[in-house]
Amino acid sequence: MSLCGGIEAGGTKFVCAVGTGPADVREEVRFPTTSPEECIRRSIEFFRSMQRLYGTLAGIGIASFGPVDPNPASPAFGHITTTPKQGWAHTNLAGPIGEALGVPVGFDTDVNGAALGEYRWGAAEGLDTFVYVTIGTGIGGGAMVNGGLLHGLMHPEMGHVFPPHDRTEDPFEGVCPYHGDCLEGLASGPAMEQRWKTKAEALDPGHPAWDLEAKYLAHGLVPQIYILSPQRIILGGGVMEQAHLFPKVRRHVREILHDYIRTPVLLEDIDRYIVPPGLGNRAGVLGAIALAQAAAADLGLKDAALP
Ligand code: ADP
Ligand code: ZN
Repeated sequence: MSLCGGIEAGGTKFVCAVGTGPADVREEVRFPTTSPEECIRRSIEFFRSMQRLYGTLAGIGIASFGPVDPNPASPAFGHITTTPKQGWAHTNLAGPIGEALGVPVGFDTDVNGAALGEYRWGAAEGLDTFVYVTIGTGIGGGAMVNGGLLHGLMHPEMGHVFPPHDRTEDPFEGVCPYHGDCLEGLASGPAMEQRWKTKAEALDPGHPAWDLEAKYLAHGLVPQIYILSPQRIILGGGVMEQAHLFPKVRRHVREILHDYIRTPVLLEDIDRYIVPPGLGNRAGVLGAIALAQAAAADLGLKDAALP
């Protein structure tokens, strides 16, 4: 497998790496997400220095915060589109980076990238239909369906569904700038912080915050189970660093499903159904390398996802 570059373009930080897979990451840099100009310049500088060291890279993959345009046939392919993030709306990421380095560029959402990484080397090896959801600064989900990453109209936006919101139990109005109390509005890291007036990582595992959080997440995931029929659900992101949250989410998912979907993994083995990323917090950047490999091979993502 030839050497590729990957960029995990996050709302907080950029991670750029060069390698062929989890066992072979040659170099990596990270820097804060400041302005698009600065982040693009620093990414190009890093990969230029890598090309001086290792020769021409076979491709670059960009797994970006969104919304993005992942459709290669669209004029806005490779752009971050309507993000509320200051200064970043309508930023062309793939164009300038691909041109400066003279290599093919693979481009997708951060979560579709992470899903591809998990498929290649992590918790989704051997599956063809699964979802990867991150619960961090925002909530977003990527999906592989029948062996291809899901795009369609744009790409999935799994964080903006509406869990039931009982204002007697939880009067908090939510933080989503578009919807208020959608899943992201109620259950992202910033939502937890504003509701409880303390950072999520500082809340004791016994705090009632976690059961409420698990219930909201379960209500967000169950529609994905009904609609996409995933063989597994991978939950990543900062908030899911709380390992005790997994059994709570699994319990609420079981309660909401009410044994309607009677498959052995859901009925008897849900610990293997709702799981952390096999690549841990490396899923994003390794997913970007997987996107690069797909672009380098000039395969449609459906084909690229095949071993
Ligand atoms: P990003 O979404 O920017 O890529 P993260 O996935 O780390 O980054 O998400 C950051 C959010 O997750 C913050 O709101 C933070 O409070 C929360 N968070 C980070 N680490 C933890 C942790 N160990 N436990 C609970 N919440 C965490
Ligand atoms: Zn929303």
